[in-house]
Amino acid sequence: MADVLRIAIQKSGRLSEKSLEIIKNCGIKFGSDARVLKEMASNFPLEFLYVRDDDIPTYIRDGVADIGIVGRNEYDEQAIDLEVIRDLGFAKCRLSVAVPHGFPYTGLESLQGKRIATSYPNILGKVLSERGVTASFIQVSGSVEVTPAVGIADAICDLVSTGATLAMNDLKEVEAVYTSTAVMIGRKEMGNGEKETILKRLLLRIDAVMKAASYKYVLFNLPEEHLAQVADIVGGMKSPTVTRLMETGWVSVQTVVAEDTFWDVFEQLKALGAQGILVTPIEKMTE
Ligand code: ATP
Ligand code: ZN
Repeated sequence: MADVLRIAIQKSGRLSEKSLEIIKNCGIKFGSDARVLKEMASNFPLEFLYVRDDDIPTYIRDGVADIGIVGRNEYDEQAIDLEVIRDLGFAKCRLSVAVPHGFPYTGLESLQGKRIATSYPNILGKVLSERGVTASFIQVSGSVEVTPAVGIADAICDLVSTGATLAMNDLKEVEAVYTSTAVMIGRKEMGNGEKETILKRLLLRIDAVMKAASYKYVLFNLPEEHLAQVADIVGGMKSPTVTRLMETGWVSVQTVVAEDTFWDVFEQLKALGAQGILVTPIEKMTE
């Protein structure tokens, strides 16, 4: 039987949906049925293992899975020697120190000799030791934010995305010590040529999907006299495509704009007299 690549995905949680969505957008078909432990894609040599995110690095190290998607926080905390293959950019969060309102916090030095509850003693320990701070860690795996109120910790260090949970527990976020996004990880050496080839094919698709997600396709009408300035504003993959409109002195311009510069570009185009600006998402994109 031909080889398959095994990918470990979080069974249910913050990473699950988006991980599966990226693979679906690669044109890979599967049921994504969370009740099963594993399943095979129908049109690509990829097998899915649905597991707890904490177990993913170990499974990859032991060869149960070849690659997986986890939060960078989980990967760094476990410090299992694997490779980050791609930063997928979603599930953005930060690891932050939070203290009760009465705590006189002036910087990480304020944590000297304190009891800090966290699920990330390795990541936090590294940050503190770089600053010459020693503290004792209370290792908890859930409900970290209740520990100061019940008197077992002076401060906490936990993952935050909006800060709502902290506020609900009368804690104040005082310092972000680490930021994380979802990453695809794998062994440094796959040790199998056929699996390497499948991974390369998968990455080619993932790169195209991720690239497309960070760009917009933009179409607009412009007085022809301003055309020269447009090239400077939009950049584009190559130069923009320009077609003449029926109305003399006007052209239609089509180009690709990076999502993070979009509003800047939009304002500059408006200032040049652009009209009928149409923006659409791009499904796939390669150079
Ligand atoms: P499992 O049952 O698989 O062990 P879990 O409870 O450990 O699940 P989730 O809460 O689903 O995991 O979080 C998975 C990952 O999502 C985290 O490791 C982190 O990388 C990311 N994440 C993004 N935002 C947050 C947040 N606000 N709080 C916690 N994790 C977050
Ligand atoms: Zn977990």
